[in-house]
Order: sequence, then structure tokens, then C-alpha cells
Amino acid sequence: MSAILVTGGAGYIGSHMNYALLDRGERVVVLDNLSTGVRGLIGAEAEFVEGDVADRDLVRNLIRKHRIEAVIHFAGSIVVPESVTKPLLYYANNTMASRALIEACIEEGVQHFVFSSTAAVYGIPGVSMVSEDTPKEPINPYGRSKLMTEWMLEDTAKAHDFRYVALRYFNVAGADPKGRTGQSTPRATHLIKRAAQVALGREPYLDIFGTDFPTPDGTGVRDYIHVSDLIAAHLLALDALRGGAGSDVFNCGYGRGLSVREIVAAVERAAGHKLPVREAPRRAGDPPMLVADSTKLKLTLNWQPRYDDVDVIVRSALEWERKLGAS
Ligand code: UDP
Repeated sequence: MSAILVTGGAGYIGSHMNYALLDRGERVVVLDNLSTGVRGLIGAEAEFVEGDVADRDLVRNLIRKHRIEAVIHFAGSIVVPESVTKPLLYYANNTMASRALIEACIEEGVQHFVFSSTAAVYGIPGVSMVSEDTPKEPINPYGRSKLMTEWMLEDTAKAHDFRYVALRYFNVAGADPKGRTGQSTPRATHLIKRAAQVALGREPYLDIFGTDFPTPDGTGVRDYIHVSDLIAAHLLALDALRGGAGSDVFNCGYGRGLSVREIVAAVERAAGHKLPVREAPRRAGDPPMLVADSTKLKLTLNWQPRYDDVDVIVRSALEWERKLGAS
């Protein structure tokens, strides 16, 4: 039986992917170097290979050994401010590693590829809702490193027997509704994760980065999508590629923006108490507002979100955080 290769499958989103694939009876091989991933999140039935996506010989061998038929590529570095101070790390871990992986796919005849891209490719869009054809002008190395990978995929698909779907994630949050995995990085920087840590007293306070953005309450606005809805988009993309669909790019978000203060309020509702917050300057590389127009994903792949409710998202993040503390 052929298998799916999930790179970064020990990470937050990748581990949800493993479970979704295993749940529907697919064979899963995880490649992860455990730099930020957690071995215990991978899922017992998945085959685990510890190593780097950039190690082309390793990847070629595992493609042959496990008869890999599709690659879902999550591995990479994902922290926007860190990309500003360590740009070459981001071009190595995201762009160059992806190049090696794509090359291994071409050499071994893997035809299907699903790529974790990002809303950061749009930079500061001049529109309130971003569609796939909004100009791509990333303002930080993270967004650029991902956009360069999209370009490599586009050019490769034109030249070889190879098709891909790039999914541009907006802000991913929440945890597996069955409680099997969730965001587990102790030094995570993402808002809902940090707010959950603060709510449980594991961090002393939450910084609000920027209160002078041109947004209704002055704080940054994002489109927070539940990780399970995001994973559903990956399954649809994989099935479309297997069914012969052409290469394509989709935004993944709900089409509604929430400010930092609105997220804080939701976490306070879920926790049942106020959060200690501190107003801080803007972070490097942060755009004021990013909200997805995801019409294309809904119409083309028939994506139907199931968890489009900030309280559901925040409660699941908080539940996972509690579980982490208990283990
Ligand atoms: N943010 C914040 N405090 C935090 C973490 C994030 O105010 O501790 C803000 C950040 O400035 C942005 C939004 O929350 O406006 C989402 O940031 P996050 O790091 O979660 O994701 P990003 O949009 O940078 O990928």
C-alpha cells in the first residue's frame, strides 16, 4: 500500500494532519527533525522518520521505501518576528529545504504535493478581504520564504508531471476535538496559545503588541481558523489532486476578522476570569489586518467549515493547555 509523507508531522498542524489521515485509513509516514516538534504527538500508527526535509538522499530513500504517493509539507519555521532577525534561517528552513524536497519528489516520481503557505505572502493588503489574486507583497522574510516556495512549485508543475495545492493559512488556532493533539510548543508566540498560557497562570501577563493600528480598536485584526477546519481543507486538496485536478492556490480562513482585544475577551469568557494584559509596542513585521476571502476554497473544493466560532476555538485551545499542564 502506498503512503502519504507528512513533513513536520510532529508539529502542531502536522500532527492534526496525521490523525485525520489515519482516521480515514491512510498510511502515514512522518518526517520531522524534532527541532520544535514533539514525538508523542505523531500518532502511534504513523511511521516516524527523524530527519531533515533538506536531506535529499534521506527523502529519496524514504519515498522509495514507503512508496510515497503524495507529500503534505508542513515542516518549516513560522515565527514572523524571528524571521526579521534571522532571515537566512528562514530562507534555509523554508525555501531551500522545500527546494530539496520538491527535487526529491521529481526524482522519485511523486506527483501530488500539498504545501503549507501563509497569508503573510500578502504583506499589508490594500483591501479588507484578501482573495487569492490580491497582490503578493510580503513584508517579512517569513512571507517571502513561503512565496518563493510557491513560485518553485508553480514553475516545477509547468515543467514536470507534478501537481500541487498551496494553502495560504490565516491564523490557525484550537486543538483536536478528540483531545489527541494541540499546540504544544512551550515557547510559542501565537496569540491564542499565549493567552491560554496566561489564563492558566503559566505566564504572568499577555502583551498586546500595538494599540495604534488603523483598526476599530487599535489592535491587530486576524482571521482565526480552527485547526480541524484547516485540516479538512488539506484532505479536500489531496483528494482533488488524486482525482486529477490541476495545481491551485487557496486562502484558508473564515472571512471574519477578530482583534487582539476580542480574542482576549473570548479567552476571559472561556476561563471565567480576567487576564492580566500589558500594552506593548507593535512587533516587527506585523501587518494591521489580515482577513481571508475564502470563497474559492468553498466553491472549488466544497469546503464547509464546522468550527467557525471564536468561543469554540478558544475553549478547545484552553482545554488542550489544561491537558498539557496535567501530563
Ligand atoms: N499578538 C499579541 N500578543 C501576543 C501574540 C500576538 O498582541 O502575545 C498579536 C499580534 O501582534 C497580531 C496577532 O496577535 O496582531 C496575531 O499574532 P500571532 O503571533 O498569533 O500570529 P501572526 O498573525 O503573527 O502570524
